Amino acid sequence: MKSKYSHLLMALGALLAFVPILSVDYLLDAYVRYRETATLQQQVSQIGVEINNNVADAVTALRQIVADVPSLCTPTFAQYAQRTIANSLSIKQVLVENMDGVQYCDAYGREVVHSALSEALPVPGLIETITIVQFAEMGMPAIKVTQTLSGMRRVSVFVPLLGVTQDTLETNLRAAAMLRISLTSGLPVMEMGAVADFTRTQDTQEYLGAQSYAGELPIKVQFALPFNSARAGYADLDVVFTVIACFASACLLLLALWYVRKSRVPAFDLERAIGRNEIKPYYQPVINLRTGELIGCEVLCRWEKPNGDVIPPGVFIDYAENSGLAVPMTLSLMQQVRYDLSELSQKMPYMKISINLFEGHFRDVGIVDDVQAIFGNSPISYDQLVFEITERRPLENSAAVNSVISGLHALGARLAMDDAGTGHSNLAYIATLGVDVIKIDRVFVDMIKPGTTQVPVLDGLIAMARDLDCEIVAEGVETEEQAVYLRSHGVIQAQGYIFAPALKIGAFRELALALDSSPSLRPSKFGSLPAPAPVTAA
Ligand code: CA
Ligand code: CA
Repeated sequence: MKSKYSHLLMALGALLAFVPILSVDYLLDAYVRYRETATLQQQVSQIGVEINNNVADAVTALRQIVADVPSLCTPTFAQYAQRTIANSLSIKQVLVENMDGVQYCDAYGREVVHSALSEALPVPGLIETITIVQFAEMGMPAIKVTQTLSGMRRVSVFVPLLGVTQDTLETNLRAAAMLRISLTSGLPVMEMGAVADFTRTQDTQEYLGAQSYAGELPIKVQFALPFNSARAGYADLDVVFTVIACFASACLLLLALWYVRKSRVPAFDLERAIGRNEIKPYYQPVINLRTGELIGCEVLCRWEKPNGDVIPPGVFIDYAENSGLAVPMTLSLMQQVRYDLSELSQKMPYMKISINLFEGHFRDVGIVDDVQAIFGNSPISYDQLVFEITERRPLENSAAVNSVISGLHALGARLAMDDAGTGHSNLAYIATLGVDVIKIDRVFVDMIKPGTTQVPVLDGLIAMARDLDCEIVAEGVETEEQAVYLRSHGVIQAQGYIFAPALKIGAFRELALALDSSPSLRPSKFGSLPAPAPVTAA
């Protein structure tokens, strides 16, 4: 939440707010591309279907003529052919030829003058062939559907390629658009519109296009439209899109501002909260796994707001560290610890009090002076204090780090490596720091599942700690299996929910006194591990 990234996030949020406005053009382009392509596709598909239907009509009529009329080129034949033409919207002519293309007769007793634009093409599934032809008096090419009878006669029916005139088609064609009907072999049959422009500029300007086939016929239909001319038709939408985008940007900007305001509050508040001692120490017991005794505690914190809200440290600790407030916060916590634990620590002089330090504490020796000032004249002796160094951030200035550590050591306090195994440190690094205690992070303890006999990473950490001659404290112990495993691997000290959560001072004092003053509650063997804490967090 209030992490070191929050300022970055704010800036990012403000930038993001303008994305809708910046992307209007992009979105509108995409919209136009999508819509216009769909329209073109619909148009070419329609043309393909029409060509296919015309040919299907011709095939049906042709087969009827061949089946119904006993002999070709008789008056009955002519009559039948004329009736067929009259009853059909597409059929224009019927023709009988010999195998060399010499005309025998037609429906009207005329000479049928036409030129072939293609050879006779077979069609899958049909005995008929189709030929694209051109009549002198017709603008639109026609399709000649032909059946060959006994290898001697050819009977053909003619239908126009399309049911509309070329003029109509051309009028309806969008400005700058190009329509091309060709054979699948590539031979153009009919082209109209800005074909020359298309051929010349298709490499340099973007075209929206679509193509389709006329069923099983070897005929292809293509449409192409320059993107810019399609886009020009959407000028009105530009305005609409821009208005919507402005609205979206305004909403995002408000959201970003709201976030900025929200994230500033804790900055202010945390500083004031520290001044008012609202950051309270909570004490999590550290237990001896062999005896069940309470042998120490880690000082954790909660923000207790005046309105009764209790905020866990995860929410503000990053912020505290980044803003430098971690140092006064620790100071305030140490003062409260002295007040809370003075009496208890006299009764239990073996009790260790573990206090978390931050990277900021290692920039100068101020912390050593603070520790001296607070605990110097208190019933809590220095050797009861343990200071935890977090691995979350690498410690950079090694001279300063060393003088802080040696300063604390000189007082008699001890140092613990916190969350060991998760951060930046390695064996050599820990060795050079000269820490006394290694706190094994909960992620490694979590690896102990029921029935586990070895956990290589954890076992390695334990061995490493032993090599360094460090005490070990296991964190986050939650199950009995984990406790038993750790104990059998020589880990004596542990903290976690199986024993107790972090407790308010009152509850912690009660628990500590109970475990201390009643020897009957102190099992001498681990076999009777204390049940999960009878005390609950306040
Ligand atoms: Ca810690
Ligand atoms: Ca820890």
